[in-house]
Amino acid sequence: MMALLHSLRKAFVHLSAPACSARWCRAQSRVCSTTIPEKQAPNNSMFRHLTSKIKATGPISVAEYMREVLTNPVMGYYVKNDMLGADGDFITSPEISQIFGELLGIWCVSEWMAAGRPKQFQLVEFGPGRGSLASDILRVFSQLRGALGGAALSLHLVEVSPRLSQVQARCLTGDQNRASGSEEEPTYRRGTSTTGLPVAWYRRLEDVPRGFSIYLAHEFFDALPIHKFQKTKQGWREMMVDIDPETPDRLRFVLVPNPTLASSTLTQRDESREHVEVCPEGGALVQKLTGRIVEDGGAALIADYGHDGTETDTFRGFRGHKPHDVLTAPGTADLTADVDFSYLRRMAGDRVACFGPITQREFLQNMGVDVRLQVLLRNNPDASTRAQLVRGFDMLMNPEKMGERFKFFALLAHGRLASPAPADKGQKRAPAPLPVAGFSELKL
Ligand code: SAH
Repeated sequence: MMALLHSLRKAFVHLSAPACSARWCRAQSRVCSTTIPEKQAPNNSMFRHLTSKIKATGPISVAEYMREVLTNPVMGYYVKNDMLGADGDFITSPEISQIFGELLGIWCVSEWMAAGRPKQFQLVEFGPGRGSLASDILRVFSQLRGALGGAALSLHLVEVSPRLSQVQARCLTGDQNRASGSEEEPTYRRGTSTTGLPVAWYRRLEDVPRGFSIYLAHEFFDALPIHKFQKTKQGWREMMVDIDPETPDRLRFVLVPNPTLASSTLTQRDESREHVEVCPEGGALVQKLTGRIVEDGGAALIADYGHDGTETDTFRGFRGHKPHDVLTAPGTADLTADVDFSYLRRMAGDRVACFGPITQREFLQNMGVDVRLQVLLRNNPDASTRAQLVRGFDMLMNPEKMGERFKFFALLAHGRLASPAPADKGQKRAPAPLPVAGFSELKL
C-alpha cells in the first residue's frame, strides 16, 4: 500500500505547471469586486411569472421560489447566465487557483487506488460551472497516466444550464463536441476532452451510466432549493413567498398559519433551533449517491460553504460580487443557502461512511497544498504569475477568506475502510487500507 502512495507522491511532485495564464488574469479581475459594474434593469419577466403563479395558487414555498428563479427552463438565472465571469456575480475556488482542481484530482486518483484500481473509472461532476475544476482534474489524470494503469476513464457532467454546458464544452473539448439532435435525449451533449477522454452531459444523475464513479459537487448543493421553517408556540410553520399587499410590485416573506406538508415532514421534533432551512433535493441526491456507492463502488466529495446543523437563516443573494436582497429583481442575482451537512449525513444513513465536514483549509493542507504551491513557484520564473499563485493560495486558505467558510464532506463505501481478510490461515495480516486523503494527512 505504501508503494501506491509513493507513486502518487512522486507523480504529484513532478506534475508540471500548465500554460494557463488566461485564468490567472481572469481570476485577478474577479477578486477585485469593487470594479464590477451593477447590472441594469430588473428581470421583469421572472417577477411577472412569479406573481401570476402566486395570484393563481397563493404564496409559494421558498423552495419553489428558488427553483423557479434559478432553474426555470426559459428564464432561470443559471439557464440564461454565465454568472462566473469577470462581469459575473461570484467567484469560486476552481476559478481562483489551478491548485484547487489539481488537489481534487489527486483525491480522485487516491480513492480509485484505494478501491483496488477498478478497470472502469467514471468521474461525475455536478454543476461544473465553467469547466475549470474538471479541466484541472483531467490534466492531473493525463499526467498520472502511468499510475492510472490503463483504466477506462470517462467524464460525466450533470448540468442544468445549456448555456453553461457550451462554456464547459469549449473549455474541456475545444470544438470536439456535439449537442444531441433532440431535446428529449438524456445525454444532451457528447465530446472528447483535449486529453482524449469521452465526455457526456446530462440534466440529472439518473441518466449517468452506472459503474464505479467518483462524484464531485463543488458549490452545487448550495444552489438546490431550500424550505424555511420557523418554530412557533403552535409548532413548526413554513415561511413562504407572497406579493406584498401594500406594494404589489414587491415580494415579501409570510409565515403560513397552518402546518404544510413540508413543515410536518421535514422538521425534527428534538430540534433546538428556532429557525431551520431544509433542502430535500440535496437529501434525495445524497440518498441516490449512497445507493450507487453501495452497489457500484466509488466515493462522493461534496465541497461547499455550510455548517453542521447549527445555523439558522442563511438564505441570501449575490449580484456583481455584492450581497443582494433575495426577493428583489428575482432572476438577476444568484440565490444560495449554506449546506446543512448534518442533514446530508442523516440522509446518507449508515450504508456508507461519512467523513467531515472539515474546513477547506484543513482539507487542502492535508492534501499537500503547501508543497504544490512551492513546486509551482519554483517552476514559474514570471513575477506576476508568482504573485497570482500566492494571492490565489491566500484566498483559498486564509481563515478570513475561503479557508474556514468552505467545508469538505465525503461519502465512502464501508468496504473501502476495511482491511481485506487474509486469504489463507497462515498468511500474514493484510495491509491496512489506504488512508482517506484530505481527511488525514497525505504524507508527501
Ligand atoms: N462548480 C462550479 C460552479 C458552481 S455554480 C464552480 O465551483 O465553479 C452552480 C453550478 O450548478 C452551475 O453550473 C449551475 O448551472 C449548476 N446547477 C445549479 N442547479 C442545478 C441543478 N438543479 N441541476 C444541475 N445543475 C445545476
